[in-house]
Amino acid sequence: MNDANTAFPATRPPLGCAALLMEVLRGELRERELPFTHQREAIARVLFESPRNFSADEVGEALRERGEQLGKATIYRTLALLVELGLATENDFDEGFKRYQVQVGAARHDHLICTECGRVFPFEHPDVDRVLADVVASSDFVPITRQIKVFGTCNECT
Ligand SMILES: [Zn+2]
Repeated sequence: MNDANTAFPATRPPLGCAALLMEVLRGELRERELPFTHQREAIARVLFESPRNFSADEVGEALRERGEQLGKATIYRTLALLVELGLATENDFDEGFKRYQVQVGAARHDHLICTECGRVFPFEHPDVDRVLADVVASSDFVPITRQIKVFGTCNECT
């Protein structure tokens, strides 16, 4: 990847990145009590293994080349899910359809997790981003993704 001093560069997936992103996806689905299905894995793999901007049709083609026959609705739903989870971005290039690209570097998975009811609360805070950007820059480290998890009890369970 390129400039290690850039805090969270969105660039080409490095070697090993697809496997790591797949682990992140597995964890995110588990937290939401959604199954890590073969279809979800196959669709995510197409995105994770390439820096390309894929249309849903192109994802379908890539899957067919790999011997997978998946319905369009499943592909659309899974792509939307990957965007929701911060693992992909949805881009509109005025072509009349959306394109999807793996999100490397900028993907944040910061959550408060209730150990009683299992609910997951995503959070964002600019100070957290700033501190981590400093840590990454001063360590000369190229980040792929990050996960901060705080376990505890939510206001309905305390
Ligand atoms: Zn709770």
